[in-house]
Amino acid sequence: MRITEIRLSDGRQLRYYDVDDAPPRDTAVDQRGLTPVSVRSELRHDPLLDQWVMSAGHRQDRTYKPAAQDCPLCPSRPGHHTEIPADDYQVVVFENRFPALSPAPAEATGWQHGTLQRRPGAGRCEVICFTAEHDTPVAALPPGQLEVVVQAWRDRSQALAALPGVQQVFCFENSGADIGVTLDHPHGQIYAYPFITPRTARMLESVAEYRSRTGRNLFDDRLADELDEGSRVVLRTQAWTAFVPHAARWPYEVHAYPNERVPDLAALDDRSLAELPFVYLDLLGRFRRLFDRPAPYIAAWHQAPVTARTDFALHLELFTVRRTSDKLKYLAGSESGMDAFANDIRPEDAAATLRELGLGSGR
Ligand SMILES: [Zn+2]
Repeated sequence: MRITEIRLSDGRQLRYYDVDDAPPRDTAVDQRGLTPVSVRSELRHDPLLDQWVMSAGHRQDRTYKPAAQDCPLCPSRPGHHTEIPADDYQVVVFENRFPALSPAPAEATGWQHGTLQRRPGAGRCEVICFTAEHDTPVAALPPGQLEVVVQAWRDRSQALAALPGVQQVFCFENSGADIGVTLDHPHGQIYAYPFITPRTARMLESVAEYRSRTGRNLFDDRLADELDEGSRVVLRTQAWTAFVPHAARWPYEVHAYPNERVPDLAALDDRSLAELPFVYLDLLGRFRRLFDRPAPYIAAWHQAPVTARTDFALHLELFTVRRTSDKLKYLAGSESGMDAFANDIRPEDAAATLRELGLGSGR
């Protein structure tokens, strides 16, 4: 793998990830003359939920649904200079111009008034482009391309976790207009948070409680129980297991775990790493075939926080907000107001459907 690092005209870092024989990338210079964006991101603490909320006023100006010929994630070409100066690339990662979190937020000091607290929104938000081809969905990429993506995820996860103050790194992809994606080009995001996210914090509490009560690891036992019970398993390979969780919140939701627990992408062994592109593409393919048009989805890689690596299990949570080809699952009163999900599809039925959608299963 060859990594080429350059700076964009406003000072943001960009890294090209290429297989070794790709043409050199560092000769292309960003010709746009961008002025740096002043990032006004801050963290506000909710004392009742003990959660941090990212507040970033500058993001209202960001690029919203440009026409394909104006795509800022395609390679640059004469007369159209994009975020990527080179005329081609394999995988590229760069700092978001309109980040929710910034390494140097405009407001550098904290603030407290009784129970009310604010902190600078220090952290980092990066964009990862999975391919230079604007119209190729991730599910249709060749496994070799996904291998480069996975290497980029691992490289950035390690680098960002090492930054001062960063507590957790999250690689994710939003796909489809129904999810609120503002750019069609196949891309994902990488967030480096200066706090442990609420969902991870909740998992860590459960894992710690289970450890103190049983001496065992909750992720391991839960995976074993799903396998043993078996009705929601979607696929199993030598290194990975994917299943619809027993208490799935979304109409179609799959969690994928390496069979040997590891804390993060960087810790995957060779076999898990080799199989990962195939497992990932397989699952995305099933989601593409669910309805008469590709299901919108969120693919979320849960990695251990920097300070809590021992008992956490790396896993993928992949889900769609679509119930049928023409019905969306809205986060309405119970979900949005109370965080209490009601799922209209039985997880066992969702798993049976997803199993049948595997290539070679006759559908
Ligand atoms: Zn594009």
